[in-house]
Amino acid sequence: MARRSVLLVGSEAQPFAKTGGLADVLGALPPALQRLGWDATVVLPRYRGVTAGTVVDTFPVTSGGFTRDTRFYEAPLADGARAVLVDCPELYDRAGIYGADSTDYPDSPRRFAFLSRAALEFAARRETPPSIVHAHDWQAGLVPVYLRTLYAAHPVLRGTPSIFTIHNLAYQGVYESDWLPRVDLGWDQFAPDRLEFYGRFSMLKGGIVDGRFVTTVSRRYAEEIQTPAFGFGFDGILRARRADLVGILNGIDDVEWDPARDPFLPTRFSAADLSGKRDAKAAVLQRYGLAADEAALARPLVGMVSRMVDQKGFDLIAAALDDLTRLDIAFVVLGTGEPRYQDMWRAAAARHPDRVAVRIGFDESLAHQIEGGADMFLMPSRFEPCGLNQMYSMRYGTVPIVAGVGGLADTVADGVSGFVLAAHTPAALREALDRALAAFSDPAAWRALQLAGMRQDFSWDRSAREYVKIYERALAGVRR
Ligand code: ADP
Repeated sequence: MARRSVLLVGSEAQPFAKTGGLADVLGALPPALQRLGWDATVVLPRYRGVTAGTVVDTFPVTSGGFTRDTRFYEAPLADGARAVLVDCPELYDRAGIYGADSTDYPDSPRRFAFLSRAALEFAARRETPPSIVHAHDWQAGLVPVYLRTLYAAHPVLRGTPSIFTIHNLAYQGVYESDWLPRVDLGWDQFAPDRLEFYGRFSMLKGGIVDGRFVTTVSRRYAEEIQTPAFGFGFDGILRARRADLVGILNGIDDVEWDPARDPFLPTRFSAADLSGKRDAKAAVLQRYGLAADEAALARPLVGMVSRMVDQKGFDLIAAALDDLTRLDIAFVVLGTGEPRYQDMWRAAAARHPDRVAVRIGFDESLAHQIEGGADMFLMPSRFEPCGLNQMYSMRYGTVPIVAGVGGLADTVADGVSGFVLAAHTPAALREALDRALAAFSDPAAWRALQLAGMRQDFSWDRSAREYVKIYERALAGVRR
């Protein structure tokens, strides 16, 4: 049998473009699949500033009557996997990945329908076509739809099963129906059992209805999204697909996020020898312009690295912040997002310049230094499909304080490897923090918490094996 291959499609992947966890997944899953004997190619746009890769093909791509000569750059990923970057400057050579000034570009449907068509056309021209197509989030939601419509009788791609993965149900790619013809879809798709969604159409729904399997990034989230509280209007659609809905926890890149070889840390450390963590704490305090004397080093340091949006529990923090800043703890915060939450942290830093420090921006090295140097990591998300930072934290001996939702509930054991809020309330946040502070004051108890987290296996190999099982189930049902 020929070597099996998978074509992954999505809007961001490390190390080329990143706004969130999707990029981590699409950068790490292809190499992990490759290590399991699959041939893995991830296709994403070639955004402004990407210089990697060499041109491997050039041909015209048409999406909804919009035709552009398109260059395809190939760049190697680890372990023999590869990325293919779709170069259409008119669509992708822009200031932002999704938009400017927190407004998405108005031609988003075109930008990502084009990506989907380009990925499929590229795959169809290879010597060996993909065995499986694996589409991610709404930006690639039309890939499964195209395979069932435009490509249903295609000489090469006909019958290729697709898997659709939901990384975050809150982003649904909902647009006015007059976009349908402009993304190559007929009006027959504007139906409740197809892509219609409350009078408009949803690209996410396309992936959900037409993926052979639908996966999401933790078991708990797979259950939660079937309920009205977490379903964002999709719970009924997802319940209808319950038999084919699977939760697979993301892994983490355990080379990039490894305290024993992290180039951003002043001194490396590991479960066997945690002494370097103190240097990391001093370094992050200094980088934030906070004192790093004995008193500061003894004081619990709480870190946050996050998009500053309601999802991440910033509303809860807003309600609790006055109370929290009365405690003898310090905060180091890194993030971008809603202006009101940026202002909230800036104001807190102005009131407590010795104990609260915030950096607004996206900064990979600082994110590593916070994970390394903080004692605790705060992540009180309202919902959290998987969450990566709590896993990075555990790897770095930084004890997470998390909400009991989604991937946070699946990865953090309350009182064992971290602390889980009993409810989404300021009082529950305070209660969990108090328990963390009590443990912190007992060095042996604290060490046990740190080591419990550091010893967990969050490797991609484990996750990739689960994906392969799904790919194989999808292939078992195919006759070409
Ligand atoms: P989400 O994908 O919802 O944003 P995740 O926890 O799954 O949340 O992944 C977020 C990823 O983005 C992590 O790798 C995190 O370290 C990173 N990240 C988020 N904000 C920043 C920032 N301001 N600077 C650096 N890295 C960030």
